[in-house]
Amino acid sequence: MTTAVADLTRPDVHLHIGAERLAEGSAGTFDHVNPASGKSDKTIPMAGPDEVDRAVAAAAEAFESWKRTAPAERARLLHRLADLIAANTEKFGRLGAMDNGTPLGTVASLTEKSIAWTRYYAGWADKITAEVTSTLTADGEFGYTLRQPYGVVGIIITWNGPLISLAMKIPPAVAAGNTVVVKPSELTPFSAELFADLVVEAGFPPGVINILPGDAASGAALVEHPQVKKVSFTGGPATASKILAACAPTMKPAVLELGGKSANIVFEDADLQAACGFGTIMSVGAMAGQGCAFPTRMLVHESIYEQVVATVKAIAEQIVVGDPFAEGTFAGPVVNQAAFERIQGVIAKAKEDGARLVTGGEPARLDGELAGGFFLQPTVFADVDPQSDLAQNEVFGPVLAITPFRDEAHAIEIANGTRYGLSGYVHTKDLKRGLRVAEELITGEVLINGAANLAVNRPFGGLGLSGLGKEGGKAGIEEFLFTKGIGIA
Ligand code: NAD
Repeated sequence: MTTAVADLTRPDVHLHIGAERLAEGSAGTFDHVNPASGKSDKTIPMAGPDEVDRAVAAAAEAFESWKRTAPAERARLLHRLADLIAANTEKFGRLGAMDNGTPLGTVASLTEKSIAWTRYYAGWADKITAEVTSTLTADGEFGYTLRQPYGVVGIIITWNGPLISLAMKIPPAVAAGNTVVVKPSELTPFSAELFADLVVEAGFPPGVINILPGDAASGAALVEHPQVKKVSFTGGPATASKILAACAPTMKPAVLELGGKSANIVFEDADLQAACGFGTIMSVGAMAGQGCAFPTRMLVHESIYEQVVATVKAIAEQIVVGDPFAEGTFAGPVVNQAAFERIQGVIAKAKEDGARLVTGGEPARLDGELAGGFFLQPTVFADVDPQSDLAQNEVFGPVLAITPFRDEAHAIEIANGTRYGLSGYVHTKDLKRGLRVAEELITGEVLINGAANLAVNRPFGGLGLSGLGKEGGKAGIEEFLFTKGIGIA
């Protein structure tokens, strides 16, 4: 069943600078393409360096009063924003599906998480405390610390979770007393447009949260702007390297949330149905495999290897790929033509490298207006060499690599054998082993027996090519505060 995707009206997108809502930007326009049909569906204005400059000036001006705004008031505004996101859940569902083809059901669960992240950091706004570091009687002088906001934070996000990425970054930054200029991905402008309108409706003072549609050049201008005191970025490692290089001359700090090649270790005593269900759905189903922390390498004990490969195949073949707006669709298209071609190239190379294609490997052919969409079959390879390209590099598409291991030490060695370090997954009924492996994995988080991603109170963020710094939990708000030490003689 398909719905009339083309009938859904795409909202006009604006540059949100201070109290202004501009329909045009000085960097021209970008043609948004509906990934489900392959056809252009909206012209988006792009911010140039001029508008970046104006947005940063608006944020810098707003900072002077926002940093003095009572923390309880910051909390109230963030709670109001969370209420408004909740009230607009259905609308965000449609906009998310229009943005990047994510099915309505998946967007709904990400919207729920976005509300949770916004409320969680609303709760932190009035709970930021500091320390007494020395006392007059013991040390001869009184010392203490202050936790202070940086000022204007430049936020740059990618396209796979256009709302959740906003909710992971903006609430902690403003709860801590910073103001922000946000550049969403040019590929996904619609969710951010509604978010910007809700910021106004919630009553945030103009300039506290500025949202600018823009491309790589707008992002670069934001990073380089001298009044931007910290950068928070979600995207790929190649862009992150450029951002770090741009930050280097002025030692500007940056949080970088990048990609992954996360291992999912399935031991012989695991609940196989649960482990295979999780490992398959979360790698070749959900978001068409376009998730940074997804378990994209499945490492399986050799004693259960063929059984697992067969179970994964059966589950992958049941995943319904189709219209993001249709009931029952689990996986939509990949984000654009470039990704569609790139992922097919990865599949061809994996075959050449000798991996065994278990299922998929081709575009998923759909009819009618979806015939030109960027749909791929859920694709599973077994016998993947841990050193091959498929095992070493993030695909960001619906492709799973399965590799056998001999014993616990071998599994850990393979799991730790990439340049990434975002997430690790373990499936075993032996909790002691699960905890032991969790200590050995060189990753920012480890999730045992199917624990969910993106729990707001648990820090998230990796090592190596997976990035720097944390989002989530107390660590997530601390990224937006610097510590000042004060001594009194
Ligand atoms: P990308 O790095 O190409 O783009 C991300 C953003 O950076 C976009 O808004 C883009 O316009 C902007 N940009 C591009 N060049 C820039 C520059 N020189 N200076 C400043 N900004 C610039 O990333 P992508 O390919 O769109 O996204 C996919 C990547 O994002 C994957 O690697 C994925 O794993 C990662 N990701 C990470 C997380 C996480 O939280 N760890 C979450 C989602 C996605």
